[in-house]
Amino acid sequence: MSAHRDVLLAGTIIYGDDFELREGYVCLRDGIIREIGKEKVDADLEGIIAPRLVNAHVHIGDSVIKDPPFMPLSDLVGPGGLKHMALAEAGHRRTVEAMSRTLQDMVETGTWAFIDFREGGRDGVEMILEALGRVPMEARILGRPGKGELDIHESCWGLGISSTRDYDQSAINAAADRARESGRIIGIHAGEAGDDDICDAIRLQPSFLVHMNRASRKQLKEVADLGIPVVICPRSNQVTGTGLPDVSAMIDLGIVVGVGTDNVMLNSPNMLEEMAWLSKALLHDDRQVFKMCTLNGAKIMGIDQRAGTIEEGKAGRLMVIDRDTNNLWGSFDPLSSLVRRLRPSDIMAVF
Ligand SMILES: [Zn+2]
Repeated sequence: MSAHRDVLLAGTIIYGDDFELREGYVCLRDGIIREIGKEKVDADLEGIIAPRLVNAHVHIGDSVIKDPPFMPLSDLVGPGGLKHMALAEAGHRRTVEAMSRTLQDMVETGTWAFIDFREGGRDGVEMILEALGRVPMEARILGRPGKGELDIHESCWGLGISSTRDYDQSAINAAADRARESGRIIGIHAGEAGDDDICDAIRLQPSFLVHMNRASRKQLKEVADLGIPVVICPRSNQVTGTGLPDVSAMIDLGIVVGVGTDNVMLNSPNMLEEMAWLSKALLHDDRQVFKMCTLNGAKIMGIDQRAGTIEEGKAGRLMVIDRDTNNLWGSFDPLSSLVRRLRPSDIMAVF
């Protein structure tokens, strides 16, 4: 064992790309997993050692307008809808405070990395950067040009498009070209309220699509053949009544499927709830669900070589779970219990 250890964790490790259960220890140094072994050790902390979660699609700016009245999707999030009016009225200070609280909530619920769709042009991006200065997390921001702006903020990972049907086609093509010319990626909502925007979205050569709950098997096959990942947001689809994604077909076709909690106004950005819901209501496959909420999200972010699972040499983005809480006592399958019933209060520590 290493003589220069920083943190030694022991217990049941959810290990590697296949999330197999291993008894043993994990040694962390300088934030990196230096060693994984089987011997008994005098650990700093014991429990279930699991990778933390990746929220592959969220709009944290919406934290200023939580739980609005139930209304049609277009009235809620469409151009000129309630959400955009609320965002315009909220002001800088309140928006940054709301986003900082949301980031803290995401950390407390096991998430370490996320992809955000940020509205409000350059000012909107400045606000999320300010919030990330208060609560550091691994973030990829997809922005969109604000009124009178041509380009997205230089800190943006890419261009985030609501639906191709919300824009003039030539304007969207120009924005996509400019994003690509500056080496940025494109993420698009598609197949959420209907399937008529899927074709146009694919034509923009996106790095990933969001939703695709209304996609036909044929459209999913096309996405699979093009190697385009999909981020599903099933709890969001449920609350907006737009229909649930055919996750089994996506997986059968070999699509890399990530998971997001979508607009904070509709659902909390709590990936523990998303995981439980997804496993119980849609997939009945805990290992696959856990992979979607960890490794696949890291893949979509392009960081799976250095994070997303527990392996030697990767970043030690772990959580240690107390198996003796009232909620988890007596569990005979740590992975299934983690996916289906984990609560923030079961998490003893995050690294
Ligand atoms: Zn969204």
